[in-house]
Amino acid sequence: MKPDYLFGLAALARSVLASDQQPLRAAQLHETGPEPRLDQVIASSPLLSFHRDIVEIASVTENEKTVGDFILEFLAAQNLTVEKQIVTPETKDQKERFNIYAYVGKNRYPDVLLTSHIDTVPPFIPYSLHSPQTDGSLFDRNDLVIAGRGTVDAKASVAAIIFAALETLRDNPDASIGLLFDVGEERDGVGMKHFSNSDLNLKPPTYRSIIFGEPTELNLVAGHKGSMKFTLVSRGKAAHSGYPWLGESAISAILPVLSHLDSLPNILPQDGGFPRSERLGQSTLNIGQISGGVAANVVPAYAEATISVRIAEGSPEDIREIIRKAVDSVSEGDQNIDLEFGHPQTGTGPQYFDVDVDGFDVITVNYGTDAASLHIHNQSSQKVQRYLYGPGSIHVAHADNEAITVGELEEAVQGYKRLISASL
Ligand SMILES: [Zn+2]
Repeated sequence: MKPDYLFGLAALARSVLASDQQPLRAAQLHETGPEPRLDQVIASSPLLSFHRDIVEIASVTENEKTVGDFILEFLAAQNLTVEKQIVTPETKDQKERFNIYAYVGKNRYPDVLLTSHIDTVPPFIPYSLHSPQTDGSLFDRNDLVIAGRGTVDAKASVAAIIFAALETLRDNPDASIGLLFDVGEERDGVGMKHFSNSDLNLKPPTYRSIIFGEPTELNLVAGHKGSMKFTLVSRGKAAHSGYPWLGESAISAILPVLSHLDSLPNILPQDGGFPRSERLGQSTLNIGQISGGVAANVVPAYAEATISVRIAEGSPEDIREIIRKAVDSVSEGDQNIDLEFGHPQTGTGPQYFDVDVDGFDVITVNYGTDAASLHIHNQSSQKVQRYLYGPGSIHVAHADNEAITVGELEEAVQGYKRLISASL
């Protein structure tokens, strides 16, 4: 969705929402009657109402408890067995954080697991509805725009997964499906890692198929890049800037190293550059933050840069080795230049998904998901199918104009149902 399209509508939508009156413009333009009140379109649909309710509850990472309680109660009211998997217990400084795990009756280890995350990135942006009308054509509820933080990432997936599961169970009450809604995906994947290490993720795996919900614009995703982070540190010696030879500039030392690292994606692997893959393209690097020095007239004694890499091929350790060599080659073993990869060293390699269900377009994406945090035991001998699918566009997720249409949200329910039935 184009940002200007959405926000061109905002003023009109606000005036519609602020008033109990039918908007004059809509009434004049419709042959078949006035535009319905937008909030009534939402209120008349259990799916859209549930989506509104969970979006209206702020759940920026680390503050997932209230929305978690809401979803837990909703699922329990649908006669599902619901478990609260506590990830971080309540303390003086921190609110309780928990994953929600739901299944049918006593079927705690179902064949098909559907999962998404309930945290969002900051800041919280309130829920709002925006009329689709721009050109005087008839009101089409499919085009009604729902905006606000999490409307796409990933509360659209959460809502669509739940309603796809409930509709599946209405037709087939014994369908062997389970639901997992986890915390912390947007920061460190703590919720999925907790689940992965718990007694719900057995060895060998009990799931035959796992469906991850993230914004894919209703396409099946064949793969996404992995990622890793590191910090480059440079230490020097402070001095008066009029007498720079009395000091050692940490910034002057770090610049050529950063410049070389920046070029690694464009250097061939055999020449020490980053690996690339046919399916995911080039590994890329982003120098996201640099800092150093204290004033213009002081030779800087310290500088650092934090850098992230999106990995198209190979493991995080492969990338670390390339970076170590690249830094050594430029700094020529300078003891004042250091690489910090963190303890423990983290990162994930690229993730590949199954795309063997007909009727979907297939794409690759550049963002990471919880999939890397869920370790599937014995994956080589006993393959568990993994799918990545969901409503909404990553191009507006995390942005100020995050929004989805009613049509896409409703279509996702059908998409998840097709994936469930193909998996059962
Ligand atoms: Zn997400």
